[in-house]
Amino acid sequence: MGLLDALFRSNEILGIAEETLEFALESSEATHPHEYMGFLRGTEADELGLDQDGLVITDILVVPGTEVNSVSATVRTSQIPNDVKALGSVHSHPNGVIEPSGADLGTFGRGSVHIIIGAPYRRNDWRAFDSEGKPTTLNVLDVELPDEEEFFDFTQDDIDEDLRR
Ligand SMILES: [Zn+2]
Repeated sequence: MGLLDALFRSNEILGIAEETLEFALESSEATHPHEYMGFLRGTEADELGLDQDGLVITDILVVPGTEVNSVSATVRTSQIPNDVKALGSVHSHPNGVIEPSGADLGTFGRGSVHIIIGAPYRRNDWRAFDSEGKPTTLNVLDVELPDEEEFFDFTQDDIDEDLRR
């Protein structure tokens, strides 16, 4: 099995967390007129309190070294960290066409779900495609994500409070 095959997992994907989808839409809009691109990573459903087996897309990894221009975003595959288990990809089409391009189809074989977001990046300006580029259903799940921000979410008051102890 090659490195790239090893990067992608075939576990069942239950859907994408609402918060993650919103993040992708906002990032695509912020990147406009350039193309936004990232890899999708998942969290086991039971870790999110769902009583189901499978994975929920909860993270988007934007790979350092992604070459971005207004025509296409190309990932330098040599720079994908070895430990990345990607379920698929997400990228934007600043021209608003929510269909895979020929170049997209060439990369969709890796990973099982690929999201294309089109300008103007509204809530419904996206579609999911399978590894063959056929439209597929991707549920949007209202799950509570593990709050990694908590760690960084100190206010100066909290710090002062700690210092007083
Ligand atoms: Zn594309």
